[in-house]
This record gives sequence, C-alpha cells and structure tokens, in this order.
Amino acid sequence: MNPHPDLSSSAARALSEIRRRGAVARVDLVGPLDLSFATVSAATTELMEAALIEETPDTAAPGRGRPRTLLRLRPDALHVAGAKLNDGFITVAVLDFCGDVLATASTDVPKGRIATALLVEQLDRTLHAALRGTALEKGDLAAFGFGLPGFVETESGLCRWSPLLSDAPVNVRDALSARLSCPVVIDNDANLAALAELWFGKGRHETDFLVVTVEHGVGLGIVLDGALFRGARGLGAEFAHMKVQIDGALCRCGQRGCLEAYVADYALAREAGLAVEPGDRDAMLEALARQATEGHEISASIYRRAGRMLGLGLANLVNILDPPLIILSGETIRHHHLLAEEIERTLRANALSIDRPPVRLSVHRWGDQLWAHGAGALALDRLAMAAGDGAEARQAG
Ligand SMILES: [Zn+2]
Repeated sequence: MNPHPDLSSSAARALSEIRRRGAVARVDLVGPLDLSFATVSAATTELMEAALIEETPDTAAPGRGRPRTLLRLRPDALHVAGAKLNDGFITVAVLDFCGDVLATASTDVPKGRIATALLVEQLDRTLHAALRGTALEKGDLAAFGFGLPGFVETESGLCRWSPLLSDAPVNVRDALSARLSCPVVIDNDANLAALAELWFGKGRHETDFLVVTVEHGVGLGIVLDGALFRGARGLGAEFAHMKVQIDGALCRCGQRGCLEAYVADYALAREAGLAVEPGDRDAMLEALARQATEGHEISASIYRRAGRMLGLGLANLVNILDPPLIILSGETIRHHHLLAEEIERTLRANALSIDRPPVRLSVHRWGDQLWAHGAGALALDRLAMAAGDGAEARQAG
C-alpha cells in the first residue's frame, strides 16, 4: 500500500514536519509551514484519514486539566526495507513508518566484484531472512531502497560503474524490482548515509550539511535546503577522487593521489603490512588500530597521515561549499580518536577563515545502523517525493 501520492501538498509538507519534530501540536505546525491554522487542520485531518498519523496526549506538558493533543506518525502506517552492498556481504533492514528498525539480516557474497544476477539472488534471500523476524511478507513493503558504492543514477536506476559490480553498466533497479515485486529506488551509498542523518540523525534539525563516510571507500553526501543534492546527472559527489597529492598513491580508479588512496581501509591495510603481522585485511586493520591506540609509533603515524589527508580534503570542500556542518561517519570513524587531532589541525590550517564561526565537525558512530537507516530513509524519501510530485501534478492540472 502506498497512500502517499494521493496527498495534497500541504498534507505532504505537514507529514515531513511531523516526522522531523517527533510529536507536535497542530498549532505548532502553523509557523514552520507558513500556513493558516485552518489549512493545517485540514492537512492533518487528511493525514489522519489516510492512517499515516495519530493523536496522543501531551503528558509531558505542565499544568492541570485536559492534556494537549499531539500528532505523531503511526509506526504501522506502512513498512519499507532497504539494503546495502558491502565488499563481501549484503545487509538488509526492515523499518516501520517511523524509521525504527524492526529486523535486520546479513549474508556473505564473494569479495570484490560480483554479477548483478548473484546480487539480486542473494538480496532476495537476505530480505526473506530479515522478514522472518517480523510479521510481514514481501508484498507488505511499500518500497525498497538499495545503496551501493559507485556511479549510480537514481532517476534511471542505472549503475554506470561500481567497485563491487562486475557487469556495470547495468540497470540494478529494474533487476531488483522484477525480483522483489515492489517499487525499488537505488542510490550511491554515501547518499544513503546523508539521508540517514537528515531523517534520523544529526542532520534532523539542519537544512545544509555534508556527510563524509570513510570505510572501504570514501563517500560524500550533500544536503542543501533540507534535500539531497544529486547533481545534474544524478551521479552525486565524487569526493573520494579529489586529488590530495600530485603523483601520489595509486587509487582503485586507476589515477594517482586520490584522497581515497590514503584514507580508505584498503589504503590503511597497504601500509599496515609494515607495522603488523600479515593476514586477513580486517584482522590487520584491527591490529593496526589496537597498536596505534597503545602508542605504537609506526601504527600511530599511519593514522596520523590518513587524518592529515582527510583534513586536507575537508578543507578543500569547505573552501568550495562553505557548509555550516560536516558529519563524519562510517566504519573507519570508529577509530576517529586516532585521526581526530590531525583532521582538525589540517582542516583549520587549510580552510579559509573569516571572523565568523568555523565549520562544525561532528562525528557520528552509527555502527551497522547507519546503512539500515539510510536504506530505509531512501525508501521513505522516495515515497515522500512521490507525494510531492502527485500534489504538484494535481495543482498543475
Ligand atoms: Zn581515485
């Protein structure tokens, strides 16, 4: 069931404001939405009738007598699921309308590049495993969001290139929706992280910010005016391949001196070979982080250099985009304490400064929840956009 496209534009706007605020009284929607109380009232009645929101007494408010009535989302209004392809495994999450994660599942796939047919097969299997933890079936899902690294066109559903797909360019969205029998939306995985912050995380009360993810690759999501900025061709922002060193280290893209070639986990693992016992990449990275934390000088210097390179990349972003907030996220950010000092120092030294407060740098350690929320947010975002489009089409017609 997808009731969204039938919403009026004021109802669609009221819905996203209620989502942002958690629980809110009707009268408190008037200002933020810049609508009359009568219009707000009609919009919220529409949302109640569509069974998307519900009333709840404001038990926290002081004073005697009957408590105020607040509006909040109905968790069971609809359900979505989402997934992310990582190097070696797929994670799937099932979320309710509030964005709470009901169940997750993960399965292994071969490391490196895999064929789309295998991806679809494994993803379907993983989704079934996740749904077993709920009372839902595949047919109950209103939308499915899928994120992967690489050049991904959300509008067409085409993945032009990915470090994890062997047969790109390929229309991943069509392959998935044929198998899952529900609307599918795909995106670059850094955009998933940006949406997770915007809908559920540190960006919830912000309109403009950047999200930088650091793990197997480096990603950048740009939020402008409260919406994801995907660029003219819908390819997003390729921060990973910003050059930080002429003739520098070799990157996965085939060029030299890219930021990713110094900061991503494969870059750290390459250097880790000189500091820890050789072995599995993940084990080497764990050992490297442990040694660096314990004060092992060579190990610590590897993180310090990564921190400097990332700080330089962030300073370049700040000089171009002047964002008020940058959120750092992703697996490597677990070891942020090893990078933090150099990131901060290099950023401050290289970003142009005026007599205004500098960019805020915020670290968000989500763990696996980041991608689960991101994939769910992508599905919910698509439903919300469909609502907006439906409303605009009706107004135009
Ligand atoms: Zn590169």
